[in-house]
Amino acid sequence: MSSTVKGKPMHAVNRRQIVAAGGALATASLLPKGAYAAEPYRFTHGTFGVTVFSDGFIMLSAEIILPDTPPDERPDILQRLGGTSDSAPLHVNIPLIRTGNDLILVDIGSGDKFQASAGKLAANLKAAGVDPASITKVVITHAHPDHTGATVGPDRRLLYPNAHYFVSEGEWQFWTDPDYEKNIPASLHEFARGAQRDLSAVKDRLTLVKPGDTIVSGMRVLETRGHTPGHISFELVGSDNLVIAGDVSTSNIVFFEHPTWHFGFDTEPEIALKSRQDFLDRAATEKLKMLGCHWAYPGVGYAERKGGAYQFVAA
Ligand SMILES: [Zn+2]
Repeated sequence: MSSTVKGKPMHAVNRRQIVAAGGALATASLLPKGAYAAEPYRFTHGTFGVTVFSDGFIMLSAEIILPDTPPDERPDILQRLGGTSDSAPLHVNIPLIRTGNDLILVDIGSGDKFQASAGKLAANLKAAGVDPASITKVVITHAHPDHTGATVGPDRRLLYPNAHYFVSEGEWQFWTDPDYEKNIPASLHEFARGAQRDLSAVKDRLTLVKPGDTIVSGMRVLETRGHTPGHISFELVGSDNLVIAGDVSTSNIVFFEHPTWHFGFDTEPEIALKSRQDFLDRAATEKLKMLGCHWAYPGVGYAERKGGAYQFVAA
C-alpha cells in the first residue's frame, strides 16, 4: 500500500484544530455570501437536470490553503476568499443530478462529522422538497469527511437509505487498508478512520469504479488522482461537456491564478499538482463547463487563460 503514497501531506493539521477553526467562524457569524442560498442554483445540461445544493462551508487555515504563498501575499488572498487574517471559508457545493429515473448526488457533505458550519445538505434538500429516500445513487469523488461524513447520522442509520453507492477502486483500497496505521502518515489516520466508517456503512450497496467507467448513460468517471490516491471526477455529456470536478482544484481563485501552488490537504502533492494543471489546461482549451465542490457557490463556470495562468468565469 505504501508504494501508492507518493508524498506526504504538506501540513499536518489534526481534526480538532480544523473543527475549532470552523466553530470560531460560526460564532463570528462571518457567513460567506451564498453559502446558504435560499433558492438552489439550477441548470440543465443535455438530458441532465442539475441542482446545486449547499452543504454550508468549511474553514481552513492559511497553512492549508496557501502553503506556497509568500506571507505578505496571504492577507489579500484570504480577504478575497472572504476570510480573516489567518483562515478562510471554502464553500461546499453538492450537485443533485436528475436523469431518467435516477436522482444522483455527487458527494453528500459532512453531516455531523466535521465542522459545525457544514453538514447543511439534508436540511437544504428538505427545504427544496427532496425526499432523502428518493435518492437512487450517491457517487463519491473521494472519501474525505467533508464529502462522505453524511453517510450515516448520529443514530448510525443511512441518510440516503435507498441509494446505491459508487467509489473508485483506488479510494477504497487506500482508505480501507487494514494496516493503515503502518502504511499511511499519522496525520491521515483520523481521516482513514472516518473513511472506513463511511465506506463500511455502505459496503453491501457499493460499486467500485475506475476511470472510464459509466455511472449512467452519459456520465463517465474521469481520472483526477492526487488530492487523494483514488480521487475521481465525473464528466456529463451534453452539447459541450460538464465536469463535476470534486477537489481537483479546491479554490476557484487560488489554484486558477496560481496553478503551480500546492494545496496542503493533497495526499499526493506532486500528482495532485499535475492532475490540476492537466485538468485546467483541458478545461480552458475545450471550454469545459465545470462544477467545483469548494468554489464560490454555486461553483459553476469556466477556466479562461490569463497570463500563463487561468481565471474563473462564472457560468
Ligand atoms: Zn473537500
